[in-house]
Amino acid sequence: MSKFIPYGKQHIDEFDIQEVIQVLKSDFITQGPKVKELEEQLAEYCGAKYAVVFNSGTSALHAAYFSVGLSKNDTFITSPMTFAATSNAGLFLDAKPIFCDIEEDTGNINVKLIESKITSKTKLIVPIHYAGHPCDMEKIKEIADKYGLFIVEDACHALGAKYKDSKIGSCKYSDMTVFSFHPVKHITTGEGGAVLTNREDLYEKLLMFRNHGITKNSKKFINNPDGEWYYEMQFLGYNYRMTDIQAALGISQLKKLAEFIKKRREIVKIYNKAFKDNPYFDTPVEKDYAYHSYHLYSIRLKDSYKDRKKEIFQLLRKKGLGVQVHYIPVYLHPYYRELGYKKGECPVAEEFYKREISLPIYPTMTKQDVNFAIETVFGIFKEVTG
Ligand SMILES: *Cc1c(COP(=O)(O)O)cnc(C)c1O
Repeated sequence: MSKFIPYGKQHIDEFDIQEVIQVLKSDFITQGPKVKELEEQLAEYCGAKYAVVFNSGTSALHAAYFSVGLSKNDTFITSPMTFAATSNAGLFLDAKPIFCDIEEDTGNINVKLIESKITSKTKLIVPIHYAGHPCDMEKIKEIADKYGLFIVEDACHALGAKYKDSKIGSCKYSDMTVFSFHPVKHITTGEGGAVLTNREDLYEKLLMFRNHGITKNSKKFINNPDGEWYYEMQFLGYNYRMTDIQAALGISQLKKLAEFIKKRREIVKIYNKAFKDNPYFDTPVEKDYAYHSYHLYSIRLKDSYKDRKKEIFQLLRKKGLGVQVHYIPVYLHPYYRELGYKKGECPVAEEFYKREISLPIYPTMTKQDVNFAIETVFGIFKEVTG
């Protein structure tokens, strides 16, 4: 078979496998000690007080929005340069996403435009750290504080990234931060996600939401307990639990996160050097307030190439580079169009979409793979230039 390099890929080693096998042989394969252990380690790693893990990043977003009370008649401000889950999770609660346009270099929400989107119905701002480049959180927090809004960071791309001196997930500038552990993300549990927070009240809501709205904490009971077996369901939650099998994998993966980020940043260094000042596309930026975790290496075609993206993308795939596009602006999907969102709402995001291609980047990508990617990219641009 000829060479094919995907845009992203998990790295599971023998140690990970042994950790999972141990849980399979133990008494608890779900709701045992591993979930708690992963939560404690995530909280410690990020520098937040609490972490609650979920069975996906999507359910983690749903739980976070629920916990701040997002509901019918509320709106929340987010950007369209993300996976549909970010805004879908608000639709689950009958709230309305308001899409704010992005910065053309980072792909992150344009902080200067946020205030123009705020109305009396706005409850929440959801910045996405696109590709792993943190948003300018201090400025977003200033706006949220001025209008009394909550902030939930969609950090599904940004585990291991830093904003100024604080790790993403510390929640220094937000109420909650959400991660995903899907296999293309920085660490994986197969499917999985987490919410980090410093607030005890939100932490308790998250725990209950994950388990049908049930509490076993007698201090929280509304009614008098009937006996030792008693528990109470106090609101409508879901089964969004992570298994101990997954949590064991997560714990093992988290030990390697620093190494994973280091590898990604080494690949970026090679890419950046090779692609410096090239005539075909712009390379990722890293602002002075950001320590980028490079979930994606996202390039943007220059003017003379943006109309040929379809052809360039096809050629890259054909030559063995598993390139991807992140993202189709969410509101352009048929489901959102039917809800009334219109083309042209976020022109910078639409332009970004026309130009963006994600090149392969993952921790086990070898120097040869990186060089193959570089040669292939240059070869194709020379081909289309003629
Ligand atoms: C991956 C991702 C999600 C959803 O995570 P799942 O674990 O796949 O449910 C949400 N937002 C962004 C930006 C993502 O990249």
